[in-house]
Amino acid sequence: MRQIAIVGSGPAGYYTAEAALKQWGDAVGIDIYDFLPVPYGLIRTGVAPDHQSIKGVSRRYEATSLSDNVRFIGNVMVGRDVSVEELRGLYDAVIFATGAPNDRQLGLPGEDLGNVYGSAAFVGWYNGHPDYANLDPDLSGKSAVVVGAGNVALDVARIMAKTRGEFAGSDIVNHALDNLQGSGVEHITFVIRRGPHEIAMTPKELGELGHLERAVPLLDPQDLPPAEADEALDPGQRKSVTLLRGFGALTADERAAKPVKVEFDFFASPKAFLGNGKVEAVEVERTKLEGGRAIGTGETYSVPADIVVVCIGYQTSPIEGVPFDEKGGIFQNVEGRISDGLYCVGWARRGPSGTIGTNRPDGFAIVEKVAEDIGDGAGKAGFEGFSALAAERGIDFVEFHHWQEIDKAEVARARSDAPREKFVTMEDMLTATGRG
Ligand code: NAP
Repeated sequence: MRQIAIVGSGPAGYYTAEAALKQWGDAVGIDIYDFLPVPYGLIRTGVAPDHQSIKGVSRRYEATSLSDNVRFIGNVMVGRDVSVEELRGLYDAVIFATGAPNDRQLGLPGEDLGNVYGSAAFVGWYNGHPDYANLDPDLSGKSAVVVGAGNVALDVARIMAKTRGEFAGSDIVNHALDNLQGSGVEHITFVIRRGPHEIAMTPKELGELGHLERAVPLLDPQDLPPAEADEALDPGQRKSVTLLRGFGALTADERAAKPVKVEFDFFASPKAFLGNGKVEAVEVERTKLEGGRAIGTGETYSVPADIVVVCIGYQTSPIEGVPFDEKGGIFQNVEGRISDGLYCVGWARRGPSGTIGTNRPDGFAIVEKVAEDIGDGAGKAGFEGFSALAAERGIDFVEFHHWQEIDKAEVARARSDAPREKFVTMEDMLTATGRG
């Protein structure tokens, strides 16, 4: 019997569990730890609430969880409730699948002004992550700036631009829906340091921006490279640029037809956030491309901003006892191996890139490495050892059947047009398991 601990119950964690089951069948015990009492990580608190079809993948993770050899252990923070060294003593392999939940910082003056948020916080807020449920961003102003040209920037702008009706079928939490409904935002500007050919927005997601009820995408056609240059792009990127060309070709009437404008400000690098206590504008430097890099031209201007969301990527949370690569925002590793008995997978290994499915081959690859290293296992105590430790220390962990109770309660209290209404505090989640 091998004993495997996976830390983190998002896509990378579940694909790793799936791979471990395939590798060892009944000859393995797989314990998936999470600091929340609910599983699925990014699927629950990262994927946009209006992208329910993407969230459907959690049914696959559920099937993995229902295997006799897999156990979900929620409400346990590794590094606080149980140390990495303790887990190492209990399991043949400890695999960190902790994702990248923290915002990267721009490191610019004014980044700490009021109403400037990182995307982890803003996305966590509208998705009901307990850490950000109280964010309460002020959306009463007219102007919003979203820094970045990735899919998270798109998610954030789309969520700000949608009407209440457009959230039908989504699981956006009530506190966000109510705040957004009272929003005064009329102009959302993407501040993008490079050009249309360099965007990281993918076509399906970018296309949605062209079909919003009350919002229209705007861009200056002069920012677009000559059409023949698109031929050098890979097919996906070419599709995105074709969509941008469509946005640039809208007539004045089409632009005027909808009250909310979503503007692409290309070749614009943020330099500072301006305001007195609360953000009022973003100072931006015009850039030009040299060898694919954005180089400042010295020309600056300011973009009005009553709220700013910085969407420039994420980093992993360091854990005591695990070597960390500060620059990459990931655990120090060689192909997923950190040190004896410690591994990482998914965004914690390679940084925040790719799709959810990218984590599947990653999970299978790390299990291959673990299999090479641990052989038949060293007869470690696994869950039995952890539960003894938990009893001794009073760690109130939850298991998958507890999550099923929470799930049932969330579904039962949903708005009539929503699949669930999430609990947004740890207390409410735990209460739904029957705890006092
Ligand atoms: P991302 O795709 O890496 O995009 C980050 C953006 O931030 C890029 O446009 C980047 O510009 C910009 N940026 C980085 N550092 C900057 C700086 N110092 N100043 C100005 N701009 C800066 O990251 P993401 O949007 O956070 O997405 C993370 C991953 O999740 C991606 O793989 C994404 O596709 C995926 N995702 C998918 C969906 C979906 O619906 N399919 C939704 C959300 C996220 P440069 O290119 O110039 O560096």
